[in-house]
Amino acid sequence: MDIQTTADKIRAGERRALARAITLVESTRRDDRAKAAELLSALGTDHQALRIGLSGTPGVGKSTFIESFGKMLTGQGLRVAVLAVDPSSTRSGGSILGDKTRMDLLSCDPNAFIRPSPSQTQLGGVARRTREAIALCEAAKFDVVLIETVGVGQSETAVAEMSDLFLLLLAPAGGDELQGVKRGIMETCDIILVNKADGDLKSQAMRTCADYASALRLMRKRAKDPPRDTHDFPKALVVSALQEDGIAAAWGEIQTLATWRKDNGIWDARRARQARFWFQEEVRAGLLSQLTSDKDVKAQLAALEDDVAQGKIRPAQAAEAMIAKLFPSASAKHND
Ligand code: GDP
Repeated sequence: MDIQTTADKIRAGERRALARAITLVESTRRDDRAKAAELLSALGTDHQALRIGLSGTPGVGKSTFIESFGKMLTGQGLRVAVLAVDPSSTRSGGSILGDKTRMDLLSCDPNAFIRPSPSQTQLGGVARRTREAIALCEAAKFDVVLIETVGVGQSETAVAEMSDLFLLLLAPAGGDELQGVKRGIMETCDIILVNKADGDLKSQAMRTCADYASALRLMRKRAKDPPRDTHDFPKALVVSALQEDGIAAAWGEIQTLATWRKDNGIWDARRARQARFWFQEEVRAGLLSQLTSDKDVKAQLAALEDDVAQGKIRPAQAAEAMIAKLFPSASAKHND
């Protein structure tokens, strides 16, 4: 692969070149990693897409939503990329994974690009791959990048940390229970979309939406920090992905919030905070991989582990000794 030619093709919006480049960033081979790094540097960062994170449990209607939302956007002349973050490759009826048929129309649309979830199982790897895939899509000048997750384990947090805006898709709930939605995720999401607001489910969806709206209001009121966004965000809306109802309204809200954040410096601050976060994550991951890949370090670790197991040395003491071996200069300074 010639890096410069590939970079030019990606910039010109050639989908095959983009798809191949994503395959490259997904690879864990050392030589591929080097090429991926070179390609990403050659592409630079001059175009910003609107990165929208979308989370929801299987069956809630993510594929259906992405299809109608994506079609609406491409209908307005916007270019849309869809990426998936899903650390568990075990889902069968999942949304995008090998299941493009659910997004029939969108996947045939020349202004859309859909990339299924990679089969890696390690979240760290998937998160990096997705961030790099986002960068590639931005270089290809997509206007909107949708990052989808089933919200299992930490993938939801990872997606929130790479999105400008985070949507949570929920189904109408029975009674007044709030579906056991994790508090953390309520706090990170910007818009809750209660889907399936059609037919028999419509009134239930409206009630569920009202419940969430008041939960969000309460959360805002109780928050120690001043509200981070315009006074009525995060908010809850009803949609019917199937009947394409409320989709345009949701897009309107997304644009309102994005514009407000850009005008108030929050957009840039958020991206800067995310860049810091991923830098720290990469340093941590790099250190950990050194521990498991360097032969000498691995041997020292194993020896200390044995000593700990035999009670010859306390775990904390052994850890300190290990760290001192890894960073001799830092520990010398520490002891000064
Ligand atoms: P995903 O697993 O979250 O991607 O969910 P899907 O998009 O595959 O949808 C799961 C099921 O819910 C399918 O049978 C859809 O037809 C149905 N569904 C999705 N959106 C709606 C909606 O707005 N209204 C109704 N009634 N059904 C929907």
